[in-house]
Amino acid sequence: MLSRTDLRGRVPSPAELRAVLPRAEVDVDAVLHRVRPIVEAVRTRGVDAALEFTERFDGVRPEKITVPAERLEKALAELDPRVRSALEETIRRSRLVHADQRRTDVTTTLAPGGTVTERWVPVGRVGLYVPGGLAVYPSSVVMNVVPAQEAGVDSLVVCSPAQSEHGGLPHPTILAACALLGVDEVWAVGGAQAVALLAYGGRDTDGRELDPVDLVTGPGNIYVTGAKRLLRGLVGIDAEAGPTEIAILADDTADPVHVAADLISQAEHDTLAASVLVTDSTTLADAVDAELAVQVPATRHVERVREALAGRQSGCVLVDDLDAGLRVVDAYAAEHLEVQTAQASAVAARVRNAGAVFVGAYSPVSLGDYCAGSNHVLPTGGCARHSGGLSVQNFLRGIHVVEYDETALREVADQVIALAEAEGLPAHGQAVAVRIEGRG
Ligand code: NAD
Repeated sequence: MLSRTDLRGRVPSPAELRAVLPRAEVDVDAVLHRVRPIVEAVRTRGVDAALEFTERFDGVRPEKITVPAERLEKALAELDPRVRSALEETIRRSRLVHADQRRTDVTTTLAPGGTVTERWVPVGRVGLYVPGGLAVYPSSVVMNVVPAQEAGVDSLVVCSPAQSEHGGLPHPTILAACALLGVDEVWAVGGAQAVALLAYGGRDTDGRELDPVDLVTGPGNIYVTGAKRLLRGLVGIDAEAGPTEIAILADDTADPVHVAADLISQAEHDTLAASVLVTDSTTLADAVDAELAVQVPATRHVERVREALAGRQSGCVLVDDLDAGLRVVDAYAAEHLEVQTAQASAVAARVRNAGAVFVGAYSPVSLGDYCAGSNHVLPTGGCARHSGGLSVQNFLRGIHVVEYDETALREVADQVIALAEAEGLPAHGQAVAVRIEGRG
């Protein structure tokens, strides 16, 4: 059922591997001509424009962008108790992990009287995008809000698309999750218009000022990503998240029932989602195909899953052994990587590139999607080669505070002056010289 790429008997270079491995082609540039007018309209006409695009793309015009506090409370009061208790547990675990990510200021003494302190300062105001198109993601509220709160940001606003079946409000489960987390500012707007409104701010229909943010985080579809690309610089962005990906590195000790279930679990996100099996066992590959034939027809989003598994971004890669498999998964740099092999911890410890690694038979990706405590906003499209997932770090800036007294400056003055002259910038050297030599 999965198309196969046979790398047995070959040792491809990392560049060759990247070329042959299955991967979705998401051309964000191709939608920029549609996104640019949306961003420009929101820049010039603010909330009026955002409401018009919401009406066009989401089929509903909210009364206003800001969600009233009583709607958040109502959504929480009406939340299914089972979902409430699951969200509370997710929040509890997530807080434990993210609280441990807080940074402490570090002072380095370079000379007597000369110090550099790295001071970690939270971003002032952040906008957290929670998708709401194909599926509803209350878990993404937790994954964005918790690290921002643990970092200590001054203010945050959550944006999520207006839903026609909920009277132009974001989905009630998203509102309830916001209420559970103590978020009191939620905007009913999605897509590129949401990112633009976060970046430029505006004034709501009731005259309420919508302040612009300093940083936008959170996953979204290609229009959200296009707007992030256009507005990067004016605001900070976390990453350009593409369709979700799972890679599974497995040997003949893996259970094909688990492997098939996990491949399907990510394929149900999106027809562009990638599900990739990397294995040195044709027996396992055959057994997984047989399992997919059983499990896929029984899954709820069967058409979406079928399309995702049959797409060019999904498949099975056959390798000679686990060393070759590790080269493949490192070249692929999956958003989510499962290691289902003998001595899985030791194999996982050798992985260099992945958004998150799920080790052994009892750590499926869906655990991390919801309740592991880890963050599920992770780099896609190979970006795990250079970036990590969303964390407290995204909401902090390290500011170097330089404090030298006269003695410490004198000690290094010659070196500063020498480097300033080498760069042809003598005024730089002079700024030191006047301090230690005076004007004459
Ligand atoms: P979304 O909220 O990102 O996008 C919906 C919005 O897109 C709508 O509000 C609408 O305004 C806009 N839109 C729709 N059609 C448009 C058009 N033709 N032109 C301009 N704008 C248009 O929700 P989604 O579409 O479901 O996408 C969510 C994505 O986020 C999926 O790809 C999913 O896999 C991904 N996701 C990733 C993670 C992660 O952690 N990496 C988590 C959750 C979701």
